[in-house]
Amino acid sequence: MYYGVDIGGTKIELAVFSPQLRLLDKWRIATQGDDYQSFLASLALQISEADRRWPAESGIPGTVGIALPGVIRADGTVVSSNVPCLNQRKVAEDLGALLSRPVALGNGCRCFALSEALLGAGKDHARVLGLILGTGLGGGICIEGRLITGAHCLAGEFGHQGMAASVLLRHGLPLYDCGCGLKGCAETYVSGTGLGRIYRAFGGEGDTYAWLAALRAGDAIAKRSFDAYLDALGSVLAGQILSLDPDIFVFGGGLSEVPEILAALPQATARHMFNGVQLPEFCAAQFGAASGVRGAAMLGKALATRVEQSNSVSANEQVADMDTLLTGGWHEQQH
Ligand SMILES: [Zn+2]
Repeated sequence: MYYGVDIGGTKIELAVFSPQLRLLDKWRIATQGDDYQSFLASLALQISEADRRWPAESGIPGTVGIALPGVIRADGTVVSSNVPCLNQRKVAEDLGALLSRPVALGNGCRCFALSEALLGAGKDHARVLGLILGTGLGGGICIEGRLITGAHCLAGEFGHQGMAASVLLRHGLPLYDCGCGLKGCAETYVSGTGLGRIYRAFGGEGDTYAWLAALRAGDAIAKRSFDAYLDALGSVLAGQILSLDPDIFVFGGGLSEVPEILAALPQATARHMFNGVQLPEFCAAQFGAASGVRGAAMLGKALATRVEQSNSVSANEQVADMDTLLTGGWHEQQH
C-alpha cells in the first residue's frame, strides 16, 4: 500500500492507494499547526490507523509520502510554510523516526504537478506545467515524467514573482503585501484570495464567491474585476511560457473549477505574447483536489523503491532526490 498525506493550513487528508495507485480509502483530520510534537503525534496516529485498516499481506507496512505547503530545502528543512510549527523542522526525518520507515516529503504544488503529469491530464505530454489557483498560487514543472525541483527546491514558486507593471497600470491596481514579506507578488492578484481582493478594490463587496455570483448576474464591477484578473493571470502564464514553453498547463485549486476562467485564459495569455507564437493547451486537473495526495503517495512509492534498491538512503536524500527518483514512469507509458 502507498499512503499519501496532504497537509493544509486547516486540514490534513490521508489517502491509501493500491500498488497500481488506485484510491482505496481516504479521510481527513484537523491540522494541529501550533505545536510540532502534537502535529507529529497526530500524523503518526493516522498512519497507524491506515496500517490497521489496510494491513499488508506481505508484512511490509505502507509507504508514506507527504505533501505540505512551504519550501523544503535540500537538507530537508521546511521553510516558509503557512503551518507555523513546521518551519525550520525536518519533518520527513522526524516522522520517519517515529514510524520506523522512510518518509518522502514534497511541496504540495509540486506533488500536484507530478500526479497530473504522470497519471492525469498531462500524461500524454512531455512538458507539463501544473498550477494551483487556490488560496495562493504555486505549481511545478515536469519534463518527460521528471519533476524539476531545481537547485534549491524553488522551481514552481512563481506565485512570488512580481506582477507585471503593465497590468497594474492598465487596471489601476495597487501593490499588495504578500505573506512572503514581498510586495506585489503575482499570487496576491491571481489566487482565489487575490480575485476577491481585486473585486473589492473596484468597489465590489464580499469574497470570490460573491464575485462569481455577481459576474453570472451580469454585474459591471464583477465583469471589470474579471477582466483585470484574467489580464493578471495571463501575464503570469505568458512569463511561464517564455521561461519553460510547456506543452500544457494543468490547473487545480478552487478557481480552476470556474469554467469562465479556464475558457477565457488562452486569449488573456495571448495578449501578453508576441504575434505568431503557439500557446500551450489549457486544461483542468483530472484528479482535482485529490491530485496533491496522489502525488505525495507517488513520492512515497518512489522513495521506497529507492530504499529497496540501495538499502540505505540518508534523510537528505529523502527530499533532495525526488526529482531523480521519479524518472522512468513517463517513458514506460510512452513506449
Ligand atoms: Zn510573495
